[in-house]
Amino acid sequence: MEYRRLGKSGLQVSALSLGSWLTFGNQISDKVADELMGIAYDAGVNFFDNAEGYAEGKSEEVMGKILKSQKWERESFIVSSKVFFGTENKGPNRVGLSRKHVIEACNAALKRLQVDYLDLYFCHRPDKQTPIEETVWAMNTLLQQGKILYWGTSEWSAAEIMEAIVVAKQYNLIGPTMEQPQYNLIERNKLENEYLHLFKEHGLGTTIWSPLASGLLSGKYTTGDTKNTRLDLNGMDWLKDRVMAEEKMKKVVELQKLADKMNLPLAKLSLAWCLKNPNVSTMILGASKTSQLKENLTVLEVVPLLTDKVMEDIDKIMGTKPELSPF
Ligand code: NDP
Repeated sequence: MEYRRLGKSGLQVSALSLGSWLTFGNQISDKVADELMGIAYDAGVNFFDNAEGYAEGKSEEVMGKILKSQKWERESFIVSSKVFFGTENKGPNRVGLSRKHVIEACNAALKRLQVDYLDLYFCHRPDKQTPIEETVWAMNTLLQQGKILYWGTSEWSAAEIMEAIVVAKQYNLIGPTMEQPQYNLIERNKLENEYLHLFKEHGLGTTIWSPLASGLLSGKYTTGDTKNTRLDLNGMDWLKDRVMAEEKMKKVVELQKLADKMNLPLAKLSLAWCLKNPNVSTMILGASKTSQLKENLTVLEVVPLLTDKVMEDIDKIMGTKPELSPF
């Protein structure tokens, strides 16, 4: 396993990590979740990603039970939660980034995960109704209490992250260490354009999500078959529409040809491509089957095969490379 710094922080995070969205407490049994975490940990994965909103809190409960039963030393793993969407009891003060919800959600996540502190705590989305000062102060209260070690954002704009950094500086507080953006061969703008200043000047780390664009970039949907996948879960029509879009499918068919030429599974080519970006601190893998995770965990060996020529070919096929902003 390769370990990378989480931005300019002192924390070392495995380049490959494991997340639980849609799988833990939902798509897969607790037994498979346990096997997945065991396989990941044994391969050197040290970061497990979670959120209050995943499976309405059940995802954290399942992960908490596994962490307890595995008896791994607390120093050997990093676990996260995210606040914003709430759990099942949505309503005033049970969602968003007010001081009340940020602190109550942290306490609830600690209970569900059965840990004394969260290593990483994310604001899962920006909250337009709450002043950023209030959220920055709430995060710093939790830091002072030792309930969280690093805090960050997810899917915030560069301007919103910058505002949090400025507010933190103004009050001598600790600003966001990391952001959790989507990054894959389809969604590239934040990592490769919008956040460049934050990487260079502020040492922001990233824990990227959906590196396979929900399985699309494994090539398995080009036949149109979605059986036994997340796209067949109840309530996932919105994701199915997004993933199965004709224009994306055409590009994936071409990408598959390149992978075949290189004698590689497309999933591994797509994952290795994400890891080539040095501004990726860790790539969060998702898996519903142990076979998928085992395949994905071997991706580091593929990274050196992605020469400049291969990277150019990929850019041509996908046509998703962002234009750099002039300032
Ligand atoms: P991916 O885009 O990598 O999708 C993972 C899914 O793709 C698997 O569950 C599986 O789905 C399929 N898959 C995985 N490997 C293979 C393979 N080798 N061949 C074929 N199919 C494969 O990642 P996720 O979307 O799961 O995101 C990863 C993590 O990122 C999440 O668990 C979560 O922790 C985080 N996340 C954060 C978000 C945020 O807003 N901050 C949003 C979304 C995710 P299937 O069961 O369908 O086969």
